[in-house]
Amino acid sequence: MVKSKQAKPSGWKRIAKERVSILFKQAGKEFRKHPERSKRYVELSRKIGMRYNVRIPKDLRRRFCSKCSSYLRPGVNCRVRTSESKQAVTVTCLVCGFVSRHPYIREKQNIKQ
Ligand SMILES: [Zn+2]
Repeated sequence: MVKSKQAKPSGWKRIAKERVSILFKQAGKEFRKHPERSKRYVELSRKIGMRYNVRIPKDLRRRFCSKCSSYLRPGVNCRVRTSESKQAVTVTCLVCGFVSRHPYIREKQNIKQ
């Protein structure tokens, strides 16, 4: 892949990050009354992240389904379980059934030390 030499203005990434977090806040607010809106917000923030090469923060990554982009709330439209055999937290989206796994091996190692 060829990277363009022209650098984007320095403030862009910061603004993109800000937008991502604002959209997620809105998604959380609207979820109860308008779940379809919060899904749209998640879609938008993922698009912004892709366009500006900004990763969605770790704490927000578990809050949406990476397959159908639904905003996920435990106990409402997703199931959160820990899996001993896979050493991971599994989040099942109850909208489309997609299972995402978040390993906790690193956290476990930190406790041992
Ligand atoms: Zn889903």
